[in-house]
Amino acid sequence: MNKHIIFTLLILSCGLQAKEKTAAQIKRSLAAKLRQYKNVITRAIKRDAAKRPYGKLSKKNQTFIRNVLRTLKMDKKIKVKSHKEYCHAMVFGNVLSVNEALFDQLTDEEKKFIIAHEAMHYILEHCEYKTCYEWTGHGSSSGYNGFSRALEKEADLQAAKRLKCAKGGVKFFQRLKRMWGCSYWNKKDKNKNRCTYDPEHPTFDERLGYLKPIAAKQ
Ligand SMILES: [Zn+2]
Repeated sequence: MNKHIIFTLLILSCGLQAKEKTAAQIKRSLAAKLRQYKNVITRAIKRDAAKRPYGKLSKKNQTFIRNVLRTLKMDKKIKVKSHKEYCHAMVFGNVLSVNEALFDQLTDEEKKFIIAHEAMHYILEHCEYKTCYEWTGHGSSSGYNGFSRALEKEADLQAAKRLKCAKGGVKFFQRLKRMWGCSYWNKKDKNKNRCTYDPEHPTFDERLGYLKPIAAKQ
């Protein structure tokens, strides 16, 4: 590769990095969006939450999840339930729910990581209890006050550091990579047999990239 090409690539990558908003910038614009559309978003979450076919969690999972939330002082603020959608965990309004068939396949340290990740979205003020909407483990979070790559990274890092569960995060994203056979959240595109890019979550490889060094020290 000649110098000119390398220089151009450098400029291009700087340009791309500059476009990526920081977590603080996104939180500010999210707060503004929430102020502006608060009633609409709250009504939509309430309406959709009422339609969700939540189930009761098994005693075992309820105890596990409550214990993780308690260490973060969040057990009184978040309700826990089960869902049938094909994703490991999600928050919707003030409800944190898991797909027990998928959740039960995880190791305890992976479970701890994903519950802490979800709780971090509230703790780090990525959302409010009435307006929170996110999926973890499979789906994308494009609705309401959907999350973004920078916020996902912030939730991953803080969950890993505060509960010392980076190893669980590494195992979880390695598992998802095997599960989907690619480095993105979404299912493979049925027609084109390729992974669909989800702009709202970092790729599994990116998440493994920043979690592995933390895991090595824990
Ligand atoms: Zn998330």
